[in-house]
Amino acid sequence: MSDLRCDLVDAGHLIATGIDGIVGHGAVFEDVVRRLGLVIGRWGIDNGAETVHFPPVMSRANLERNGYLRSFPQLAAVLHGFGCGVHGPFTTGSDGDLSTGLMMVPSACYTIYPMVAARGPLRAEGALVETWSRCFRREPSTDTPRLQSFRMHEYVKLGRGADVVAFREAWIEKAQALYASLQLPFRLDNANDAFFGRPGRLMASSQRERNLKIELLVPIMVGAKPTACCSFNYAEAHFTEAWQINMEDESTAHSGCVGFGMERTTLALFGHHGFQPERWPDGVRQLLYG
Ligand code: 5GP
Ligand code: ZN
Repeated sequence: MSDLRCDLVDAGHLIATGIDGIVGHGAVFEDVVRRLGLVIGRWGIDNGAETVHFPPVMSRANLERNGYLRSFPQLAAVLHGFGCGVHGPFTTGSDGDLSTGLMMVPSACYTIYPMVAARGPLRAEGALVETWSRCFRREPSTDTPRLQSFRMHEYVKLGRGADVVAFREAWIEKAQALYASLQLPFRLDNANDAFFGRPGRLMASSQRERNLKIELLVPIMVGAKPTACCSFNYAEAHFTEAWQINMEDESTAHSGCVGFGMERTTLALFGHHGFQPERWPDGVRQLLYG
């Protein structure tokens, strides 16, 4: 366990569960997560985003249609139930293990594409959606900022390619201003998703070459290695083709998203500014506590 995590547990801001990457949060930590969410949400209000929320589980069929099981099977988690006999539930053996058809949501934006697809072709201005979700990725780790269960606050833009690119550019600027206002050290870097296996290596290098994923990296405390606190993703026609989302004039629609890691950013605030938000720098307090 890192010193920061131990200290945050001792202070009651984090609650250890004994499972790597699964932590509870005290009221003060949660309050910061909520306030950060409100700050991120302001852009959506100013820019006419539609806000929607989904549960942290979704249909396996929809996640497969998004290509998730092909690209990231190592991170995926399926929900199973138990069959019940006269003596109670079967808790061992395959005959007692029943699929629910549900999987844990791994990224908030995956819940959005089926919703937009069901509405039919996109008008010229496209669609702009704000959402957040508890996300699950099966990657137990003792690294403090790497959680199996975490919250991701996202904006998803669907529409003409040029509009999606402009959305992403706007957010790259906006997010840098946000982390500067939070007085956190950061840098941007070209990145790739953790695609599985040998074909995955090709997909990762192509994603990098085409500059499709950019991350904003923050060391969660002085001396820590930088970790991605948000990402700016241009998916081109990957999801829109899978969901047959087109423009009204039948041209191809593209999509992109920006995702904020809420626990990571909050950890960085505690890591850099101390464990008592009432003592955080004035500018940071002004932004979060108004
Ligand atoms: P991405 O889809 O780019 O992998 O994730 C979007 C954002 O979610 C990341 O930039 C990061 O802030 C957050 N995130 C991704 N994986 C994890 C994780 O394992 N733990 C935590 N706490 N946040 C994560
Ligand atoms: Zn996304």
